[in-house]
Order: sequence, then C-alpha cells, then structure tokens
Amino acid sequence: MELWFTEYQTENLGLTVRIKETLYTGRSQFQEIAVIDSYEFGRMLVLDGVFQTSIVDEYIYHEMIAHVPLCVHPNPKTVLVIGGGDGGTIREVVKHQSVEVAEMVEIDGTVVEVCKKYLPEISVALNVNHPKLRLTIGDGIKHMQEVENKYDVIIVDCSDPIGPGEGLFTHAFYENVHKALKADGLFVQQTESPFYHQELIKRLQTDISSLFPITRLYLANIPIYPSGLHCFTIGSKQYDPATVDISRIPEIADTRYYNRDIQKSCFSLPNFVRELLK
Ligand code: SAM
Repeated sequence: MELWFTEYQTENLGLTVRIKETLYTGRSQFQEIAVIDSYEFGRMLVLDGVFQTSIVDEYIYHEMIAHVPLCVHPNPKTVLVIGGGDGGTIREVVKHQSVEVAEMVEIDGTVVEVCKKYLPEISVALNVNHPKLRLTIGDGIKHMQEVENKYDVIIVDCSDPIGPGEGLFTHAFYENVHKALKADGLFVQQTESPFYHQELIKRLQTDISSLFPITRLYLANIPIYPSGLHCFTIGSKQYDPATVDISRIPEIADTRYYNRDIQKSCFSLPNFVRELLK
C-alpha cells in the first residue's frame, strides 16, 4: 500500500509527498512532532502538520536565514537564534569566524532531541555541542523581555504564526528585539510566502519599520514551503543591506545556495512584492 502525507498550505491547496516510512510521531507539551522519510525530499520534520525542513532542500533556508544578515553586519560576535530547533541555522552561524557566541533559545526540547536523532546532517552543531553554542530550552518571547543591548544579530527561525510561534510576529516582540540588540544590531525573521501571506507581510513591514530605521525584505526559492517563494525580513538599526560591500564578505565553507552575488540579488524584488511594502 502506498503512503502519502499532505500539508494543507492554504484552504484549497496542499503539498503531498509519498512516504517510504514514518520514523517518529509524538506529541510534546507544545506541538505534534513527526519525522517522515519521503521519496522526493528525504527525511522531513513536520510540526503540527506543517513541513519545517527536509534533508533535500534545507540548505536553502538555513544558509539564507543565517548568512545574509551575518554578512550585512560587519563584525557579528554575539548572535542569538530564536527557535531553529532542528539546528540547521546554528550549523551555519558557527561557520562565521567573527562569531564568538551563538545562543539558541528553542521552546521545545523534544524537537531538539528528535532532530538530533533523525536529522543528524542538519543538527550537527547540536550533536557535537559546538564550543560556540549556548543552547537554552525556553520561550524566545520571554527571553527577549529579559535582555538588553546584548546581541549583534538576532535570527528568528520560527514556525508559522500559530501555536507557540504566534507571539513572535507581534509589535511587542519586535520592541523587545530592538531593546535586546546593540546600538548597531540587526535582526532577521522568516516571514512566510509573499504569494500567500500578503496581509501578514504588510503588517510586519509596518510593525518593524515603526521601530527600525532600515527594514528590508529578501527572497529565496524553497521547494517545500507554500508557493516555493519564501521571504525574510531584516530590521536594522544602522547597516543597510543595500550598501554592503560584497568584496569584504568572508569565505563561508560549504554553501550550496548562498554566495556573494546572492547576498546582493536576493534583495531585488518583483513588482508585486514591492507593492506589498509601500
Ligand atoms: N524552517 C522552519 C520553517 O520556516 O518552517 C522553522 C523551523 S524551526 C523547527 C521552528 C522552531 O521554532 C520550532 O522548533 C518551534 O518549537 C520553535 N518555536 C516556536 N515558538 C517558539 C518560541 N516562542 N520560542 C522559541 N522557539 C519557538
């Protein structure tokens, strides 16, 4: 018998993959967790029925959420990742020589343990307990309320704005992110699909630009996410992604999507996306 799994990405659309095997299913305090092995995308992490990452395309998301903001900042030393329980973002962050401390605050310890076991290629920095890593299992929203003037770069690698991630898409959260950043700090957040989540993107633009003098959106093509076109939003106190001198960007080991040209071109937006930001 053939087994298939569908993520319903909108009310009228789903992404369906044929499954070789279900490797894990369980319920944590926060969400339903599953790891499936699919024919098309290899092993996939699914939270509350939503694809989070896959062995086949994960490099795109993780390289783009980490390297783009880290290369806008000229010398990121102290970096925080909120969420990111699969470890892929931290794996990329610790590649930067300037980074001395890479903190990670993930609400769900079970996600971390499951990814360490079933997605070791992605969770490698968690598995080896990388010397730059400081992992805390806790709520990123609460953590942001408690810190001030601490980070050069904050990366919000969160799930969708429902469940435990909902509060990560609010004005109150961005106020605390602003407070937690140093005077020249910047943050990035995954902000869903410019094709399917236009109202969310407009609201976030308004919220973030009310606090940060520089707000920029960039794009990447990620096959497992709705529409395949995914966006990220940067709020920056000082450094503008548009003026980054790409010749000073350090070599970053083993990237398959990110390069210096992408650092610049990912901020070039189609007209329908520009419209959203007006
Ligand atoms: N790449 C993914 C995507 O866009 O679908 C995100 C992956 S990562 C697994 C998302 C993580 O955010 C989850 O492990 C979830 O537990 C975590 N998370 C959700 N809300 C959180 C919160 N309030 N504080 C910290 N982590 C949170």
